[in-house]
Amino acid sequence: MLINGQWIQTTQTFAVTNPATGEVLESVADGSASDATAAIDAAHNAMPAWSGTTAHERSAILYRAWQLMLDAKESLALLMTQEQGKPLKAARTEVQYGADFLLWFAEEAKRLYGETIPSARKDQRFMVQHQPVGVVAAITPWNYPVSMITRKLAPALAAGCTVVLKPAEATPLCAMAIVKILVQAGVPDGVVNVVTTSNPAPVGEIFCTDKRVRKLTFTGSTPVGKKLATAAAPQLKRVSMELGGHAPFIVFADADPVHAAKGAALIKFLNTGQACICPNRIYVHETILQPFLDTLKTRVSKLAVGNGQHDGIAIGPLVNQQAIDKVSAQVTDAKNKGATVLTGGTTLSEGDYGHGHFYAPTVLADVTPDMLIYREETFGPVAAVISFNDDDDIIALANDTDYGLAAYIYTQNISTAMRTFEALRFGIIGINDINPTSAAAPFGGMKESGLGREGAREGIAEYLETKLGGLSI
Ligand code: NAP
Repeated sequence: MLINGQWIQTTQTFAVTNPATGEVLESVADGSASDATAAIDAAHNAMPAWSGTTAHERSAILYRAWQLMLDAKESLALLMTQEQGKPLKAARTEVQYGADFLLWFAEEAKRLYGETIPSARKDQRFMVQHQPVGVVAAITPWNYPVSMITRKLAPALAAGCTVVLKPAEATPLCAMAIVKILVQAGVPDGVVNVVTTSNPAPVGEIFCTDKRVRKLTFTGSTPVGKKLATAAAPQLKRVSMELGGHAPFIVFADADPVHAAKGAALIKFLNTGQACICPNRIYVHETILQPFLDTLKTRVSKLAVGNGQHDGIAIGPLVNQQAIDKVSAQVTDAKNKGATVLTGGTTLSEGDYGHGHFYAPTVLADVTPDMLIYREETFGPVAAVISFNDDDDIIALANDTDYGLAAYIYTQNISTAMRTFEALRFGIIGINDINPTSAAAPFGGMKESGLGREGAREGIAEYLETKLGGLSI
């Protein structure tokens, strides 16, 4: 853990394992509620000096961190593959995406513009300034163990806030590697603090109830996000919630089914299906269903599964046994209710697979609304395909979920694309595009997928208060 600039080891530790091999990578300090309070003490004490630095000073530190992170790209990527499981190529892409937030917010720090507003009174002037919200508590998931941290810390630091971070139990090593880079770049003692723990609830409770924390930013599942937002409500703490998804992927009759299927194979199996923007319901017009399924099945059955450190591996392990159990339960339920398994559909446990958590990349056809997979986030390598025949119904079907994070549209018709884009109740929509994300673009969900946006201009606003001055002259 890092508290007030001191790296702390505790007698109580927990093991971090490689999900591909079961090997123990390291033992990490197992923090408690009192460590969370000590981290908040440090962040609170560091707040006046840090918020008193100029935007240009904060920008320079973030810019240095960006350079250091790119210099360390290869070692960070290897650590991520070992700790989280994604193939090395994908890990390098994530390090780059994570670094992009440092650069973006190094630049946005210098654009914390205020404004003047004309008054109806001749003797009055209005001025608006933006000030840091205060101490920020951040809780992050394991699936993107680097970028989910920089997406929060970079704007918080740029705004002049200090931070206490609790990374996921499965991936504390990536978190510590990023924080070491921030320290090396010149972040002063107490400005960023990290509490690692195998028991998140007591730490989360302190984050939600200590009055000195003025903002809670969380990325993770919807049930945990709701719990934390509820706990933060009595003090009216500001909250940002980046939560789960259940993305529809709509392929209209005029789309190129081969192009759409290639896109679906890429985005569905991104990070072994463990991304919040992975499609969970792939709706394909019945007139192009067969060529779509043929391409998807061919592509998916060729995906090489294994240890992400090895050449040619496209699909790494799932995070743990619970993830395997959830995927297996959804596939069994779908099969029992009439789905057809075109490829995959089984846990992989023979030979080297036996040491890790592997599931065969799977394509299910004939999926219907009564199946679990149609409603629950899968977070695993299973593509669920549903055919449709009525364009008028498809928007209502796609919107029929409590989630509202990502959605995808494939069509050659600009009017269909625009009408569907405007009618879908999702925060991020790819139109013939499977990667609608960037540090420059706002990321976040509607409905029960979240509150607030990360990245883009909006990302820094999440860490700022608006202050009005009325001056009588
Ligand atoms: P999770 O179980 O909700 O955990 C997320 C974080 O919350 C982890 O650090 C976890 O600690 C912590 N946590 C769990 N229970 C807590 C509690 N009672 N109090 C305080 N902290 C608590 O989610 P996950 O399985 O790690 O991540 C997968 C989910 O994240 C999916 O639903 C995915 O869609 C979502 N996600 C969303 C986005 C987005 O931008 N919208 C991005 C990535 C992921 P432990 O690790 O110790 O359990």
